[in-house]
Amino acid sequence: MPIIKESPVHVVQVRAFCEECGGELKSTGFGWPDFPMKYEHICDGCGNRYMLEMVYPATEFGTVHRHAGAGRA
Ligand SMILES: [Zn+2]
Repeated sequence: MPIIKESPVHVVQVRAFCEECGGELKSTGFGWPDFPMKYEHICDGCGNRYMLEMVYPATEFGTVHRHAGAGRA
């Protein structure tokens, strides 16, 4: 039998921003069956369209360090 252990994690939200205006990129829900997959995003500031390899905003899990500060793990 494997040994199963639990450890606490913290959750971070990963967001993408427009290189033109700094607006936030939001997924439109459309994806292209490319390799790797490409997901369409539109800037909520200027309307620029970006094809990205993952969907933003995304959720990632990081390891919790006992005396970690507020930054990302
Ligand atoms: Zn923009």
